[in-house]
Amino acid sequence: MTLHEKNEIMLTCNICNKSGKYNIGTMLINVHPNQEPEQQYTGYFRCKNCNTAGQREESSELYMLSIAALLAPDNENIPVQFGEMQLFDGTSPKYATDGEEYLLHLIPSSLGNDFYRIN
Ligand SMILES: [Zn+2]
Repeated sequence: MTLHEKNEIMLTCNICNKSGKYNIGTMLINVHPNQEPEQQYTGYFRCKNCNTAGQREESSELYMLSIAALLAPDNENIPVQFGEMQLFDGTSPKYATDGEEYLLHLIPSSLGNDFYRIN
């Protein structure tokens, strides 16, 4: 996979309705037979206004990136890859923050405080 230094895209938060530029990293498009393709983003970002994770309106800029990737799948300057991002157990988060939330929930609550103290 090609590494992209920055891939800032204008996104709008669905919670507070504020827009801002966010580094989405690489967009992954997972194409399933007979289903809508799913997009995932490797960048870690939260709303700059309300700190919400993962609630974003799909922008026309993202749509155009998807089209560009479909038209030129071998162009390494387009920060889009076809495939699926998975966590160690096969979970497939849309945003990196979804993966973070999932992993934090795997830490047993009885171990949680001790885990944070020793790490
Ligand atoms: Zn927000």
